[in-house]
Amino acid sequence: MINVINIACSVYDSTVTRILLLIVFCVMAVGKGVLAQNLPDLGDPFRDDFSPFQERVIGASIMGNIRSSTSYVSDPEIADYLNHLGYQLVANSDAPTTDFYFFALINQTLNAFALPGGYVGIHSGLILESDNESMLAGVLGHEIAHVTQRHIARVIAGQGRARIGSLAAMAAAILAARSNTDIMQAAVMTSAALPMQSQLSFTREHEREADRIGLRILDQSEFDPHQVPLFFKHLQRQSRLYESGIPEYLRTHPINSERIADIEARLAKLSSAQVEDGIALLFVKARLRIYQDGPLSAIEIFKEQLNSQDKKVRVAGMYGLLCSSIFSNDLTVLTIDEARATLDAALRSEPGHPMLLSVEAAFERLHGDLGRAEALYAGALARYPTRKSLVYGYAELLLSSEKFKDLEKLMSNHVWNAEIRDSKYYEYRAKAYEGLKLKMAMHRDYAEVLAMTGNLVGAINELLSAQKATDGNFFLRTSVDSRLRELEEIKRELEK
Ligand SMILES: [Zn+2]
Repeated sequence: MINVINIACSVYDSTVTRILLLIVFCVMAVGKGVLAQNLPDLGDPFRDDFSPFQERVIGASIMGNIRSSTSYVSDPEIADYLNHLGYQLVANSDAPTTDFYFFALINQTLNAFALPGGYVGIHSGLILESDNESMLAGVLGHEIAHVTQRHIARVIAGQGRARIGSLAAMAAAILAARSNTDIMQAAVMTSAALPMQSQLSFTREHEREADRIGLRILDQSEFDPHQVPLFFKHLQRQSRLYESGIPEYLRTHPINSERIADIEARLAKLSSAQVEDGIALLFVKARLRIYQDGPLSAIEIFKEQLNSQDKKVRVAGMYGLLCSSIFSNDLTVLTIDEARATLDAALRSEPGHPMLLSVEAAFERLHGDLGRAEALYAGALARYPTRKSLVYGYAELLLSSEKFKDLEKLMSNHVWNAEIRDSKYYEYRAKAYEGLKLKMAMHRDYAEVLAMTGNLVGAINELLSAQKATDGNFFLRTSVDSRLRELEEIKRELEK
């Protein structure tokens, strides 16, 4: 939990403008029209608790900063994997409808943390040390429990009025769009002046509760809870390797023999489940290994994996070599024949695995066989229509081959059907319209990209450019006009 505050601190460095943009982002994320009439009740900033909504807004603003940091992992395969795993667990928690977002950070220290509002970060080091999915799921389940039990709000409340005041002031600054710039500036300054360095740590009761609930979630989600104490003991052994004495996870969620004994006592009542993992965690670890250690040292590890007795480890080694070649744009890691033979072998072992299909298409593209790459993407997307890595990969290919009509069709389909709005989808479609020289549609989509990343002024300017364009039909023109009215209304509210 130390991380929450460390990361939160960087939020205070932001300019007022940045905060203002974040408000827009948050407000738009919540839904249009919220701002005008139904400003959420901020409550008394000095009361001893936060509303879930306030937590969410604080979390979203911290997340905005994390997303722009270099250690944030935006890789769609890794994001898909962590969120899929996380939501399997959330479904069996006390709050199955709560919004969560799971993400990885490149950091060798073994740590995971929950931010206010359901954002759960996991360090690459911790994922790489997880021998199986149940171990990783054990850490996620524990963090999910901290969120669903609202431990963060309770810890902050326990820290006394000063901290509550500062965080509430920040929430107010972010939320209370009607406040003028001076008030917001003052709120930000006040927050910055407070001693935020002191650590927030969960109490022993919080840890015990998170363990208890985490284990139950794990068991109900059909993972093996018996892996949890094994992993904790493994982390303790690892501690000898760290100069600081103990891995960060043990410091932020202190593990002692009493806690492990407590977990083992609970486990005695649970049946031991034999869980057979798929290969996805090994693939995700290969990608993280490249990001964390760089392709050169990762390649050495992948080559060693090829000699493993375990077939899955060998296939993951092949996958790692293919990814190293693609990530570093290096054709010398594997020749095209070696790569194709490797892929055939991997696909025989894991038929139709979407992560292999994606790498197969990317590899053909890297080697310049664009026709083959295109057929592979189209085939894979027919099987896995919502898989982000395939959508992005296919879009990049169509863009670089200037097949703008196909790109427009692909992205329109995804813009309309996506469960969660993705600014990258709008960005690719805007580029397609740009190639097709359809200015009104292009500006309208760029406006959406800017709005979704919190740049309200930029979004409005794009819509004004869209209005000046003469190449749109009646429906497009109407949609531009109404979106512009919406954004201008939000802007007026912010300026009051
Ligand atoms: Zn904990």
